[in-house]
Amino acid sequence: MYTETEQLEFDANHIWHPYSSATNPSPTFMVERCDGVMIELTDGRQLIDGMSSWWCTVHGYNHPRLNQAMTDQITKMSHVMFGGFTHNPAVELSRRLVELTPSGLERVFLADSGSVSVEVAIKMAIQYQASRGKPQKHRIMTVRNGYHGDTFGAMATCDPVTGMHHLFQQSMPQQLFADAPPLGFDRPFQSSDLDSVRHLLEHHAEETAAFIIEPITQGAGGMRFYSPDYLAALAELCKAFDVLLIADEIATGFGRTGKLFAVEHAGICPDILCLGKALTGGTMTLAATLCTAEVANGISHGEAGVFMHGPTFMGNPLACRVACESIDLLLENNWSQQVSQIERTLNSALSPLRQHASVANVRVLGAMGVIEMKQPVDLNEIQPRLVEQGVWLRPFGKLIYMMPPFVITQAELEQLCRATTAVIEQLQQQ
Ligand code: PMP
Repeated sequence: MYTETEQLEFDANHIWHPYSSATNPSPTFMVERCDGVMIELTDGRQLIDGMSSWWCTVHGYNHPRLNQAMTDQITKMSHVMFGGFTHNPAVELSRRLVELTPSGLERVFLADSGSVSVEVAIKMAIQYQASRGKPQKHRIMTVRNGYHGDTFGAMATCDPVTGMHHLFQQSMPQQLFADAPPLGFDRPFQSSDLDSVRHLLEHHAEETAAFIIEPITQGAGGMRFYSPDYLAALAELCKAFDVLLIADEIATGFGRTGKLFAVEHAGICPDILCLGKALTGGTMTLAATLCTAEVANGISHGEAGVFMHGPTFMGNPLACRVACESIDLLLENNWSQQVSQIERTLNSALSPLRQHASVANVRVLGAMGVIEMKQPVDLNEIQPRLVEQGVWLRPFGKLIYMMPPFVITQAELEQLCRATTAVIEQLQQQ
């Protein structure tokens, strides 16, 4: 048996973490177990989870119904190939997705991670255009400050300036970037907000297969909320210029912004929709790409006659089964009320931070609270302080942000905000 110190040492010396350094690892804490909204470290410390493990664990951890669904499924079939076979978990999950997403999305591709579902969406768009006799429409257009994943096709649509992937620029397809949507969910929309998009479309629509965007909330590119009217007008522009619209709801899907899907704020139906993260309530890796019948049939009438993608773990039954249970739980739990309550509490608890000298901006939407600092925060400094206060957040750049599980209690959420405020005050006093 290795001691905990030895295990942490092995981890630091041998294991990559997300965006980690082999020579200068950031503080890493060892988790013993998670239950509800609490993360317990091996030294017994309890942390309130403010991150939902990056948007996923909307029901909290260790939920008995999700556990039971997986236990039941695992004794029947944890995996079987999806080529030539189908099964109840995949069919029932797809039925739920077709019913719950905006009307018009009719065909489901069950992928194994968010980035892959974006690759699938891009390939669908390109194959669709080729099948219409427009193979020259193969580029992807998007906005700055976006984030769509870490694989090559997805990376190529992340902001090449503020994003994390500029080192790979020469190996990626060169895509088309318009200005980011102006900040502010409630900001009145002006037609000039889309000037840059319009300009790009006027010059490049003939070579563009699709426009990809995170609806209403740009996540990893800055936790930026923008106007539903902007999104509605963008959808109209795409239609007018014969460019498909891909909505990346990997982060926003399943209630996070206050609507079940963020496109509902704008009353639009995209041609292609990507889902992931909260799809399984944070228990298993699974994602989905939905498309309209027009896109699906177009692809199938094209030269290849089939859609060219088929990962080994496609439609994994264990993941599909727990996703069904997670969606049922979400609907039964009255997620909408939970999210409104979180929004009210975040607004009242975080607003006073606007007065702090070190804080540039505080913004709240649905179950997301964002504190934008004037200067970047040092993760190595802030992370241990937050843990000391009994909370788990993962700030990046100038952003200290929270997206708690929907089941967090009022008292737990207030404690999360108090602890965050205390750490900001400590840093300010330095
Ligand atoms: N799109 C968006 C909007 C995301 O937030 C993420 C994950 N942060 C992805 C795509 C990629 O998903 P995954 O990390 O599961 O590959």
